[in-house]
Amino acid sequence: MLEIKSFTFNPFQENTYVLYDETKEAVIIDPGCYEKEEKDMLHNFILSKDLKVVMLLNTHCHIDHVLGNAFVKRKYNVDLYVHADDEVVLKSVESYASNYGFQQYEPTSIDEYLKEGQDVKFGNTTLQVLWVPGHAPGHVVFYHKESGNCIGGDTLFEGSIGRTDLPGGDHHTLLHAIKTQMFALPDETVVYPGHGPETTIGQEKIHNPFVGERARF
Ligand SMILES: [Zn+2]
Ligand SMILES: [Zn+2]
Repeated sequence: MLEIKSFTFNPFQENTYVLYDETKEAVIIDPGCYEKEEKDMLHNFILSKDLKVVMLLNTHCHIDHVLGNAFVKRKYNVDLYVHADDEVVLKSVESYASNYGFQQYEPTSIDEYLKEGQDVKFGNTTLQVLWVPGHAPGHVVFYHKESGNCIGGDTLFEGSIGRTDLPGGDHHTLLHAIKTQMFALPDETVVYPGHGPETTIGQEKIHNPFVGERARF
């Protein structure tokens, strides 16, 4: 059975997720840990559950989602998986990290490219990769069909959507991608977003002010 553990890290209040199952194999998605206490918190959880981390995944590569990439790669000796269209986003982090106060940011490089529609497998678990661009060009979400859970990054939030004013962002692309990709998932699907609390596809289909039935925009 898939288990999902969330942490909220760094000043951007970014949600970091650890997914694991009964085999104790685990993947870490969007490690935003920056301070030592945050890295310790993540690692202590891994130790306490006796997990074996086998993969590092990024939904996309804005700074708040990649601050802990180097730590995770080194600590668990795992590869980083990212959609190719976000490689430029990852590379640019180095140029602005110190402007945001992250002097200790350690750049990382992508080891494997994620492709739209592919499966990501660990333990007894299979995640499906959906490409949902607009907030970032190579933004993907990870969907676990059996449990009806989706790790959504900065696409769809409770009552909101990801901002599109950053380089590579495009508002209409994001609206279209949410409607065609994420809203194709069952209504009861739980979305674990990059910021804020969980929501469901059904709730956002109705109430979301950007993409819901009562959208104002
Ligand atoms: Zn983002
Ligand atoms: Zn974010």
